[in-house]
Amino acid sequence: MELKEKQVCQELYEVWKGAKEDEDGWPESFTELPEKHQHEYLLTAQRILRLTKPPLLADEEMILRRIAWINHGHQGMYGDDGEMQCAACLREYGFYDWKRTPIVEIESKMADGNIRKLWKNRNEERQDYECHR
Ligand SMILES: [Zn+2]
Repeated sequence: MELKEKQVCQELYEVWKGAKEDEDGWPESFTELPEKHQHEYLLTAQRILRLTKPPLLADEEMILRRIAWINHGHQGMYGDDGEMQCAACLREYGFYDWKRTPIVEIESKMADGNIRKLWKNRNEERQDYECHR
């Protein structure tokens, strides 16, 4: 991670920590967070910032997008020519372009997709249960 990226991540992490009721027990530094969850903290911090403070500068937002994209946990990402795309996001969330989709839209599409997944799993479990009774 470049120095500028580290600074932006650390600032966002502190915003996120500041908004938590239980401030104790969280690591001092963003880099100490489990890597696979880092993008969630960043996206949440970005939302908090948007609601409470002036928006991020364009380059800060691009850094955030890139880090969130790299760490969002899907296979099949495409990043040549400075693009940030993901085929699995298209399937699961209905968008693929992390570079041009507004960050608000990314957040809400991911949240919707995750709720749909939970609902589907829940209904499948229920069917299994009813079949095996
Ligand atoms: Zn994806």
